[in-house]
Amino acid sequence: MILYHSDLSPNWGEYGILIPLRDDRSKRVFEHLRSLGKANLLELNKSDLEIVTQEDLLRVHSKEFIDHLYGQKLESEILDCFELVDGKGNYNRYNPALAKRNWSEFFDSILHHVSASKYAMEKSLEKGFTFFLGGGMHHARTNKGSGFCLVNDIVVGIRALQDSNKIKRAWVIDTDAHKGDGTSEITHKDPSIKTLSIHMKKGWPLDHPDLQHPSKIPSDVDIEMDCEEESFYNERLRQGLNKLWDHNPDKPDFVVVNAGVDPYELDELPSTQFLRLSKEQMLERDLMVYNFFKERGIAQCWLMSGGYGKFSWEVYSQFLEQILE
Ligand SMILES: [Zn+2]
Repeated sequence: MILYHSDLSPNWGEYGILIPLRDDRSKRVFEHLRSLGKANLLELNKSDLEIVTQEDLLRVHSKEFIDHLYGQKLESEILDCFELVDGKGNYNRYNPALAKRNWSEFFDSILHHVSASKYAMEKSLEKGFTFFLGGGMHHARTNKGSGFCLVNDIVVGIRALQDSNKIKRAWVIDTDAHKGDGTSEITHKDPSIKTLSIHMKKGWPLDHPDLQHPSKIPSDVDIEMDCEEESFYNERLRQGLNKLWDHNPDKPDFVVVNAGVDPYELDELPSTQFLRLSKEQMLERDLMVYNFFKERGIAQCWLMSGGYGKFSWEVYSQFLEQILE
C-alpha cells in the first residue's frame, strides 16, 4: 500500500525561510502511479491521523528537549535544526520580516508529518508492506534536532508499536546517502532495535572534527562508501543485510526502510556528490532490500527520506511500478 498526504510539510516561505527547495516528489510519484492504474494507493487526510503526543516523543527524545519544543525555546531549536543562524549568530537564509505564520504552527506541521509516518508503520503490520511518500527524519537525536530533522519519526513510530505490544523487535535499514546518525545515537543501547546504514564515507554528518560527536556513534552495521566505489554498493549492502541477519538470532517483527534516493547520480544536493549510483543500481538496491524482507515474511514500512532535484521522483517510481500490481 502506498500512502500519500498532500499537505505534509511546512511551506517554508510562509515562515520566512529562504531555501529554494521545491519538493513535489511525493505528488509526482503518487500521480504517476495513479495514472498507471495501480491498486492500493491511499490519499491521507488530516482527519485520518491521530496526532503524536508528548508521551510518544518522550519514548525517543529527552525531557529537556521536548520541554524546549513545547515551550519558550522552540524558535532556537528550529533555527539550529534548519541551520538558519550562522556561526556568528546572524540569520542565514532566513528573514523573520517575511514570516506570515509562527513557529508553533511550524511545529504542528512537523508533528502532523510524524503522525503520518507512525500511521504508515501501523498499516504495514496489517498489509505486510507500506510505502509512505514522506518521513525519514533520521538525523534527529535524543537531545537535538539536526540536518532539517527536528523529531525522529522512525524511532517514534517503532517505539509506539512496541509500547502497544504490536511488535517486539525492529530493524532500521537506512539507504539514504547520509548516515542515519540520529537513529543510531537514539537506539545504540536498545537491543530491541537494530540499525544498518549504508552511506557516504566522506561529508556531512561524518565530517565533524570531534571524534566524540554523537554522529560518530555506530549503527549495528555501518557500510561506508568511498568515492568511485559505486560498483560495489549493492554487493556490500547485500553482505550487510546477511551479516545483520546471521548475527542476530532474535529476528525482527518489523523493518523500517529509510529509502533516501540522494545516492542517485542526478541528485542535485551538492553534499551528496560523493556517491553517484545509476538509476539501474538504485532499482537493484530497492528490489534487493524489498525482497530480502519479503522472502523472510517480515512486515516492512518504507519512508522517503532524502532526494533532491527534479529527477528524484523517478527513482521511487521505478521501484514502486515494479512491485505494485
Ligand atoms: Zn540524505
